Amino acid sequence: MARGKFIVSTNFKMNGSRAFLQDLVENLNRADLDSNVGTITIPSQLSNLRKDIAVGGQNCFWKSSGAYTGEISAEMLKDAGAEYVILGHTERRTLFKESDSLIGFKVASALAAGLKVIACIGETLSERESNTTLQVLFRQLQAIVDHVQDLNQEEKWEDVVIAYEPVWAIGTGRVATPEQAQVVHAAIRRRVEETVEGSVAEGMRIIYGGSVNLGNARQLAREKDVDGLFVGGASLKPEFVEICNVLR
Ligand code: PGA
Repeated sequence: MARGKFIVSTNFKMNGSRAFLQDLVENLNRADLDSNVGTITIPSQLSNLRKDIAVGGQNCFWKSSGAYTGEISAEMLKDAGAEYVILGHTERRTLFKESDSLIGFKVASALAAGLKVIACIGETLSERESNTTLQVLFRQLQAIVDHVQDLNQEEKWEDVVIAYEPVWAIGTGRVATPEQAQVVHAAIRRRVEETVEGSVAEGMRIIYGGSVNLGNARQLAREKDVDGLFVGGASLKPEFVEICNVLR
């Protein structure tokens, strides 16, 4: 499986008024973006983006429709024009008590509905300090692997992007060093090789998220196993366009 394009994605989270988001989207629509980079926007409201920017949802539930007040299904996201969905973000895991297994289930359901998934995994500071980073990441990853393997559709792995997002780096201004990111990304890739398959591991995009900004994006992007950047706070600023062009 050949590795896809380097990805830069926004994560607007629950931010922005309509007017604010319209300005952001217009800025992106006008921008001179590197065509070697796959740009994804995960907006907080429906937005009119240009066609070469993929759109994603911030969450989805599993059924196509039904009595699930407050939820949106993978099929509904697709119907609204989404190509991607974020699942397993730490804010979902901690604030909304989503378990590893629920996240794995949702990943497989979104893939089955034809969405591509940005599946997030990450360790807390205390887990890093107690040297359990890989143990935690592999546990989170295994729940995803188990559910995706249950689909029995090997080709679905092409639609999975893993986002390594250390919890201690999210929204804190404390970014992982490029070396820290590289070590973890390489370990995740090896783990995918062991638990899924070599060609899936080789082709899989593993992107980094957590306090990415214009000042650190280029160095992170240089690392061999960093296949993209997942940008929260800085994606709400005009500098996001320059982050998309870091490979230039
Ligand atoms: P941040 O958020 O860039 O603001 O740290 C990243 C994320 O939560 O995906």
